[in-house]
Amino acid sequence: MYADRIKKVAASLANSGNDILFVTPGADLRYLTGYDALPLERLTCLAIRNDGKSWMIVPTLEKPSALAHGVPEIGIDLLDWQETQNPYQILMASVGKSSSALVNNLMWVEKAFGIRSALGKEVALAGSLLSDIREVKTAQEVTFLHEAGAAIDEVHSNMHKWLRPGRTEREVGRDIAEAILASGHSRVDFVIVASGPNGASPHHELSDRVIEAGDPVVVDIGGTMPSGYCSDCTRMYVCGQPPAEYLEHYQVLLTAQQAARDHARPGVSCESVDAAARDVLIAGGLGEQFIHRTGHGIGMETHEEPYIVSGNTRNLVPGHAFSIEPGFYFAGKYGARIEDIVTCTETGISSTNNTTRELVIL
Ligand code: ZN
Ligand code: ZN
Repeated sequence: MYADRIKKVAASLANSGNDILFVTPGADLRYLTGYDALPLERLTCLAIRNDGKSWMIVPTLEKPSALAHGVPEIGIDLLDWQETQNPYQILMASVGKSSSALVNNLMWVEKAFGIRSALGKEVALAGSLLSDIREVKTAQEVTFLHEAGAAIDEVHSNMHKWLRPGRTEREVGRDIAEAILASGHSRVDFVIVASGPNGASPHHELSDRVIEAGDPVVVDIGGTMPSGYCSDCTRMYVCGQPPAEYLEHYQVLLTAQQAARDHARPGVSCESVDAAARDVLIAGGLGEQFIHRTGHGIGMETHEEPYIVSGNTRNLVPGHAFSIEPGFYFAGKYGARIEDIVTCTETGISSTNNTTRELVIL
């Protein structure tokens, strides 16, 4: 599988007219090799040439770890460097002087500058070269995403155990984080518990605010599974009775989220999925309060291509995985968001999240 992915990248490199791609630790490296190397100050770097030859340099002390991850079995030559050596020179040994080189988008600048200086010429960003491949998931990856969705659903379906008036967001958040791990995730990526007015900030951090009766509470949570694939799901809760106008707004949001799910299928553009949700919110008087795009792709990273946003004219294809998460936000009052991760099938979409999208009254 990894050898195939590297072959695909080499072919894309050749098509793009570039000679070589450098990739440092992160989701790109995990996707291409399965090696979950720590991004540290010492250089670890994969090189893929457009003729398919690939090699990786690792610090000598991390060589056992690279071997344990089976890097050589993929067909990657494993090189190592000792503390007093210059790793960039070793990395460049099989690189022609006039090579046109790309670096993965999330490479640390320090490493990109090191490569540029060792190469003696400018390097460019990989841009969409890797994401074009990563964004279309295989059947196995789709299964992993559905497993992640089922695990986070389990956490949402137990929310009544933790979320109640008199507790702080932080206390509730701690319990949720534990439950995310207990549900089978190997890592907690984020826990948003945004009560009352805090719900108006889409990426609110846990605070010591005490949750009050009648507060709508945005709970947006996600983690990474042992498979390396991520979950991300938002559901809305209220302890007791929310304001009447909130309930009206919520019905509009439910309709908007459903409209985007009904619309999404192979062959429709990403921006039209955004418009499907947005048009309902605009018609319901909430256009100004919907302050973000409708969704983002997801896989080994919580946010990746394809982005469900106005201006993205790309069409959905089977294997795309992305969120549908419209919301509304009234500063100083409250907010709401409903979020599912869906995967694009041959005929429509399949939601990885299946707990109720109705406002859950606790
Ligand atoms: Zn999301
Ligand atoms: Zn989310």
